[in-house]
Amino acid sequence: MTDLHRLSIRELSEGLANAQFSSRELTEHYLKRIAKIDAQVKAYVTVTAEQALAEADAADAAIKSGNASALTGVPVAHKDIFCTQGIKTTAGSKMLDNFISPYDATVVAKGKAAGLVTLGKVNMDEFAMGSTSENSYYGATANPWNLGHVPGGSSGGSAAAVAADLAPFATGTDTGGSIRQPASFCGLTGLKPTYGRVSRFGMIAYASSLDQGGPMARSAEDCAYLMNVMAGHDAKDSTSMDKDVDDYVANLNATSVKGLRIGIPKQYFNVEGLDADVKARVEESLKKLEDMGAILVEIDLDMTESYVPTYYLIAPAEASSNLSRYDGVRYGYRAENPVDLMDLYKRSRSEGFGAEVQRRILIGTYALSAGYYDAYYVKAQKVRRLIQQDFLKAFESVDVIAAPSAPTTAYKIGADLTPVEMYLGDIYTLAVNLAGLPAINAPVGFDQNNLPVGLQLIGTYWSESQLLSVVHQYQQATDWHTQRAAIAEENA
Ligand code: GLN
Repeated sequence: MTDLHRLSIRELSEGLANAQFSSRELTEHYLKRIAKIDAQVKAYVTVTAEQALAEADAADAAIKSGNASALTGVPVAHKDIFCTQGIKTTAGSKMLDNFISPYDATVVAKGKAAGLVTLGKVNMDEFAMGSTSENSYYGATANPWNLGHVPGGSSGGSAAAVAADLAPFATGTDTGGSIRQPASFCGLTGLKPTYGRVSRFGMIAYASSLDQGGPMARSAEDCAYLMNVMAGHDAKDSTSMDKDVDDYVANLNATSVKGLRIGIPKQYFNVEGLDADVKARVEESLKKLEDMGAILVEIDLDMTESYVPTYYLIAPAEASSNLSRYDGVRYGYRAENPVDLMDLYKRSRSEGFGAEVQRRILIGTYALSAGYYDAYYVKAQKVRRLIQQDFLKAFESVDVIAAPSAPTTAYKIGADLTPVEMYLGDIYTLAVNLAGLPAINAPVGFDQNNLPVGLQLIGTYWSESQLLSVVHQYQQATDWHTQRAAIAEENA
């Protein structure tokens, strides 16, 4: 078969179970595509061909002997932030260019237990700080829809790999939008789960109170399959929730769009810098949901203006603390010929970290310093609580909240925005992480340059099934999610 990369996860699962093709054939097919096409996309930092083929053979044996799960033999790409035993894990940083983890992240281990085949590790902004993937030590990844544009970030490699059909689905992480924004820029479906739904064990920390892993794929149905693997309590992550996990695939039709109350925050559609095409496509998608029976309700989210400043204090503060472990002593990059211990620390960190990471460590250290702690960090924590309360109040009258995922479509590579311009692009995604809520991006059309536009739906706590179900039904009635970038049409 030459078009295995066109099949959905359900079709892959059924095809493998019915022996229409083997996991080895499927894995070889994807590896061939990566070998031919990824030189243009640059989604992968590491391709694990040999291990993937061994895993594929093991999957084929499991299928033959009747020991398979729904996903046994299906390939996946992991964001290079998830630790993989024996395989380099870089987090997009020179600091970890030589780092080989002695253990698997829980998400990776769960994937292995489910029989997933790891194709490799995909690119990202250094330590997940950024919105373009250009902050990677390994260079920029291209947007499959237009190779001169970025795929978004920080999970840009995950998004580009799936959008170019170089993986059927991928893991991502979202601290302030890093699943939803690249999904939006690349025309994919991506789910940021409720904080605590997916284990953070072995997921390299950026801002621990905000970080959350989740699935990125072509459709809500494909995301549901990966979510079934990723979600669940983990004794190794004290912030993971000991709460029953839904069967996200079985629940895909559980929520009816008919009668669903969708909140439209007034403030969100008056944001300065909201692109006219993005606004139009998002409004058209909401009209479509209305035609399907949803009730659109105008709501107020008064705290909108404080999202960016609050996040850009709390996230760097936590990052400055988390990244203090990279000192050149135990693992990671070490400066050559240090004259003393202080010189080793200083040079290892200034040579090993890129500019954006250093900027955030400086901001965070400043915000946490004795003289400014109350004025910045404590105040930001109080505002964070107000933002959460704003959402809880809104959810008293609506079931989900709609927003763009980003104010624009994908930027050009090398657009060279100032840090503040870049941070303002996160306006629609940050509050979800500050409040710990789940949210999903769904593709809803294109701008005049044929770049994808995304709709974001925000749910209340633990409503992942509902979000996937609403998007699934939207996708049954529309075909935006089935459109492919030209490069994905190329055969290997
Ligand atoms: N763009 C945001 C940032 O730079 C979000 C990144 C993320 O979610 N990891 O921090």
